[in-house]
Amino acid sequence: MLFSKRVKEKRHGLLLDQPLDDPSCCRGCDALCCRAFPSVALTWAEYQQLATLGANRLHFSLHGPHKLIIENGCEFLHQGRCGIYEHRPDICRRFICQTKRT
Ligand code: SF4
Ligand code: SF4
Repeated sequence: MLFSKRVKEKRHGLLLDQPLDDPSCCRGCDALCCRAFPSVALTWAEYQQLATLGANRLHFSLHGPHKLIIENGCEFLHQGRCGIYEHRPDICRRFICQTKRT
């Protein structure tokens, strides 16, 4: 009798020191990170750029980093992909996942 062993994959998020475009770990994922976090921290330049791109959920702060609110899904997420990939904030560029099989 044959038994198939179920392989589970667990993702662990990492914030890299440098941006990484087109990470292979994201290919089978429908942008969980763009829906799982409450917000993305922004520099002032990024805040202004996203405002130019039509962002509606920007949060201006005098005391901490400005933010793009992404709770319940980022407004720039389209069909599981970032709709502003070339212009996405630095923190989005540096966040990747390591996948571990258990
Ligand atoms: S970093 Fe990539 S693999 Fe990780 S949740 Fe985001 S899209 Fe998915
Ligand atoms: S800007 Fe793009 S990569 Fe960043 S949270 Fe929104 S959809 Fe995701």
